[in-house]
Amino acid sequence: MTTALDHDAVAPPEREAHPLAARVDEVLTGLLPDLRQLADELHDDPETAYEEHRSAARVAALLERHGVAAQVGAFGLPTALHANAGDGGPRVAILAEYDALPDIGHACGHNLIAATAVGAFLAVRELLEHAGGTVELIGSPAEEGGGGKQRIIDAGGFEGVAAAVMVHPGNRDRAYGSGLGMRHVEVTYRGVEAHASAAPERGYNALDAVVTAYQSVAQVRQHILPTDRVHGIITDGGQAPNIVPGRAAAHFFVRSATIDGLEALSERVDAALRGAAISTGTEAEIVWDRLPAYLPVNVNQALADRFAANLRGRREFPPPSPAATGGGSTDLGNVSHVVPAIHPNIATAPEGIGAHTAAFAATTLQPLATQGVLDAAFGLATTVLDVLGDAELRAAIAADFEASREGDA
Ligand SMILES: [Zn+2]
Repeated sequence: MTTALDHDAVAPPEREAHPLAARVDEVLTGLLPDLRQLADELHDDPETAYEEHRSAARVAALLERHGVAAQVGAFGLPTALHANAGDGGPRVAILAEYDALPDIGHACGHNLIAATAVGAFLAVRELLEHAGGTVELIGSPAEEGGGGKQRIIDAGGFEGVAAAVMVHPGNRDRAYGSGLGMRHVEVTYRGVEAHASAAPERGYNALDAVVTAYQSVAQVRQHILPTDRVHGIITDGGQAPNIVPGRAAAHFFVRSATIDGLEALSERVDAALRGAAISTGTEAEIVWDRLPAYLPVNVNQALADRFAANLRGRREFPPPSPAATGGGSTDLGNVSHVVPAIHPNIATAPEGIGAHTAAFAATTLQPLATQGVLDAAFGLATTVLDVLGDAELRAAIAADFEASREGDA
């Protein structure tokens, strides 16, 4: 069976060690204490979406110590950051994130993403004479829900960029790291309040509508693709047991591995939410995409192949496969439909510890995470140098990108 998720499952071609491997290693080893300190400081002082003022300032201060002037407040976003090195020629962007989760801090390891991106950027800058072109560092706020990268796209931040690369930490190595498309939908039902015992016949129960909606969505879930996801919570279940709830609300995430799948699933969820209003005699107010939709990650095969090849001997990656699709969602997905991009995972935590837990945040301080930052920065730096210096590779990346977009609306 073929699905939209199938890639050509070929192993990356055999390659000699990267010609600049020793130099990249030397630069990164020198930077490592600074990168470790940056990750530690971000961990100890977490800031959530669009509030990352001290975090962006820390990244900028580190760059400045190494002679790079970074702009904080780039792209019209107070906590976005932009720096570049080089002059003209092809441009490649390395993406940093530094937002944390509410309550559980750097439980998605974005402190390690920042350290990795800064390390890779400074290493490429140091060795740019071997490749030419321009390397950019883009610090993108609010990956956790706020869609900072979509706003940077809207501000033209990726125009003319040949490739955008980043690495996300995790508990396994995946060069072809993907992500599901995701939309938010919030529904508020309005009924009629009444005394729940003295006059229940006068009430139209908004909580019943939410419960019916929740069950209807659960029935949809039985008949969707294994990679589709719908999950939600009740955000308002009424005021008191003796009042027929006149208002109740729920918030769902809808996810799918393809844009078409996301649209199809959204329609079915929307119908389930509307049906609940009809059956309970209430009014439904349905709001889609109050927070930006995240598109599925469109992994650029040539770029991912090169990243995997450059890390051979340090990290072994499984080939791309539909089974590897899934997990969470990322606004890098939106970038990947505008310019060629990759979002590989490097293991920085033991296999049993998953992201978005307090335990994962603690692993970002451990030696395994430090090694992960080093390897991830090495993989990014060598890949960026290759893209900047090799017109044939750029052509292959561009061809893969065009082919992948044929399915995009
Ligand atoms: Zn994350």
